Amino acid sequence: MTDTLIHQAQAHARGREVLLHEPAGGDPDKLTLVKARGSLVWDEAGKEYIDCTAQAWSNNLGANDPRVIEAAIEQTRRITHARPTFHTPALLELAELLVSIAPDGLDRVGFTLHGSMAVEMALKLALRNRPDARHVAVLHDAYHGRSITTMAASWPHPGNAFGVLQPQFLRLPRPDLYRPRPGLTADQDTEMTLRIVRDILTKGTEGPVAALIYEPIQGNGGHNGFSARWHHGIREICDELGIMLIIDEVQTGLGRTGSMWASDHYGIEPDVLVFGKGVGGGFPLAGVLAKNRFAAFLPGDDQLTFGQFPISVAAGLAAVRAIIDDGLCDRAAAHGEYATERLREMQTRHPLIGDVRSPGLMVSIELVRDRVTKEPATTEAHAVFELAQERGVIFGESRYAGLGNLIKVKPPLDISRDHLATALDVLDEVLTEVEKTAGTRTGELS
Ligand code: PMP
Repeated sequence: MTDTLIHQAQAHARGREVLLHEPAGGDPDKLTLVKARGSLVWDEAGKEYIDCTAQAWSNNLGANDPRVIEAAIEQTRRITHARPTFHTPALLELAELLVSIAPDGLDRVGFTLHGSMAVEMALKLALRNRPDARHVAVLHDAYHGRSITTMAASWPHPGNAFGVLQPQFLRLPRPDLYRPRPGLTADQDTEMTLRIVRDILTKGTEGPVAALIYEPIQGNGGHNGFSARWHHGIREICDELGIMLIIDEVQTGLGRTGSMWASDHYGIEPDVLVFGKGVGGGFPLAGVLAKNRFAAFLPGDDQLTFGQFPISVAAGLAAVRAIIDDGLCDRAAAHGEYATERLREMQTRHPLIGDVRSPGLMVSIELVRDRVTKEPATTEAHAVFELAQERGVIFGESRYAGLGNLIKVKPPLDISRDHLATALDVLDEVLTEVEKTAGTRTGELS
C-alpha cells in the first residue's frame, strides 16, 4: 500500500500537506468521479464513462437508482439511529424478503455492513457450532475480505502478511478449468482435486474442521469457475465429514450470474451463504443467510455499532425489491449471453484473448501472450484497461489480484443493450491497438 500525496496544490495553499492512505495504491491516472446515473459515471472535467465495474464495488442496479435513493432519504428523515438492540420496519421486511429468495433451508439472516464482516460472522457461527474444531478450510486463490481474519483466509494474496497469524486455516487446492494439471482434462483435474481435498480433510488435519468456505466463482482470484461436479463433490465431502459448507456469494449474489444466487445456478446447497455488495444498491450492507439448526450465535457476538445501519437497510430493501421487480436475473442472463457471444467472436480475431468467462454478467476475458503456454499478458491487460478508459469505458482490472491479466465486464444488470454494445466495441478496438504494439503471436484456440 502506498500513501499518496493528493491535492498537493490546494493543500499547500492552506499551508498543509494531506497524505491520503489510499486502499488501492496511488494510481497516477485515478479518476475523481462527481456523478453517477445508471451505467454511466462522470469525472470532474465532465467526461462521461460507461461503467463496467459496478459489481466489483457495490451495485447490481444502475447507480443512484431513484427507488434506492428515495428509500435512503426517507429513512434518513425518520431515524438514523443504529442500535443493535432495536429493529426498524425495513430491517424486518428485508430479513423476510431475503429468506423468501434464499436457497432452500436458509431461514436465519444476520446483517452487517461489509462483506469481510459478514464472512467473519459466518466463521464465528461455524466455530461456535463446533467448539472443538481446529480448522476452517479455504481454497487456493480465495478472496474473502480485508479484515485480518478474512485476509488470512484469502491466500495467496498480494500484500497478505496475516496468513501466518491464523494457522487454523487449512489450504485446499482448487481445480482449474483453464489451466488443468498437465496431461489432464478439466474434468479429470476436478476429479483429482476432489480426491486430494478429501484426503487432506480426512488425513491432513490436527482436529475437526468447523467449516469449508469458498466462492462459487472466485472473483478477485481471477474469475475462476467450477463445474457442477465440483460443487456437488464438495457438498458430499462436507456431509460425509460433518463440515459446515459456507458459500461466499458477496460477488456472485443478487442476480449477477443470471440467477438470484450462483448457488441456484449450480444447484449448490450451502449451510451458510454470505452476501454483500449488490444487496445494498450502492450503500454498505452485507450479511449471512444460515440454516437455523447451525445457528449457534451468542447474543452480542455480532454487536457492531453500525451493524444494522437503518439507512443501508432501507436502501437494501429497495434494491432487492428492484432486482426482483425489474426481472434483473433474466436480464443479466440475456446480456451475459450476448456479451459472451461477442467476446467469443472477438477471440477468433484477437490472439490476446485466451479465455472468455461468464455466466450472466460475471463476464471476463483472460489475456495471454501465447495460447499454448497461456503466459499471462499482464502489461497488455493494463494497456487495454487504460486505453479503454481514455475512450470512455471503465472495465474491471485485476491488477491487485489473480494473475493480473483479466479484463472484467461487469456493468449494472440493467445496463442498456446500446451501452453494453458500445463498451464491447471499444474493447474490440483497443485490443486491436494493443495487439499491434505488443506483436502477440497467434496461437491455437484451446
Ligand atoms: N468476499 C468476496 C467474494 C468478495 O469479493 C469481497 C469483496 N471483494 C469480500 C468478501 C469482502 O467484502 P467487503 O469489501 O465488502 O468487505
